[in-house]
Amino acid sequence: MAKGLDLGIAGRTAIVCGASKGLGRACAESLADAGVSLVICARTENAIQAAAGEIAGRAGVAVQAVACDVTTETGRARLLADCPDPDILINNAGGPPPGRFEDWGETEWLAAINANMLSALMLIRAILPGMRARKWGRIVNITSAAVKAPLPMLGLSNGARAGLTGAVGALAREVARDGVTINALLPGQFETDRLAGYYAALSKARNQPLDQVRADVAAANPTGHIGDPADFGALCAVLCSAQARYINGQNLLMDGGAFAGLF
Ligand code: NAP
Repeated sequence: MAKGLDLGIAGRTAIVCGASKGLGRACAESLADAGVSLVICARTENAIQAAAGEIAGRAGVAVQAVACDVTTETGRARLLADCPDPDILINNAGGPPPGRFEDWGETEWLAAINANMLSALMLIRAILPGMRARKWGRIVNITSAAVKAPLPMLGLSNGARAGLTGAVGALAREVARDGVTINALLPGQFETDRLAGYYAALSKARNQPLDQVRADVAAANPTGHIGDPADFGALCAVLCSAQARYINGQNLLMDGGAFAGLF
């Protein structure tokens, strides 16, 4: 029987943030399938406990659930207390709400920067010395296609995620000599609860049935589909693989070709 590709990370440990559902959950599942032990978090206790049980049951690896908010210092401290020295860190949290530039004051901007830039930077800062000392590490930031092509109504996300991208751009080159890579995955549109909420808002704004909105979004993509989170998770596991040691400082767009540029 043909053997699957060995990603070379069985037995390693990963922190996966925002992992009870959606893209974070898909990343956690693919890493678990590759034999990685996990510490996963989300804010809702029941949901993250259930996710941990399901992933562990399916993949047969140790999965610990931590109910915490990664956008707070206390939440990050809880996560790091349970896993101070991960080999792999997947940064992820909910995105900022859509809106209009005129409505965003200092409070709204600081909240977005905190959630989608600083939280990831603070986790990286905490675990990086250990990764460098052990001469191995993989950090993947889940950002957004908006980093490459800023999206209307999502200025808070466009700004905060671009900030994170810039902040780790040079860092990735600094730490690579110690066997640590830092990359970002930029999702286009994937079937998650977050996207379902977006469709509901569009359906209301356009006064169109939900199914129609969904069908239009899918039809507008070159593939004719909306993304499957499992595919996103698989790419994340590949980026964390032993063989990905020469992929560093990259922002990988996964959007079915919706972004029409060559580079
Ligand atoms: P989702 O389906 O809503 O899942 C988000 C996950 O993160 C849940 O497990 C949620 O659980 C957890 N979470 C949210 N805020 C958290 C926090 N502060 N601390 C800890 N856990 C938190 O969202 P998704 O679609 O997977 O999106 C993940 C990220 O990718 C978001 O930043 C989103 O903006 C971005 N993105 C998604 C798409 C897409 O097509 N889906 C496209 C572009 C960008 P709790 O609510 O219980 O905490």
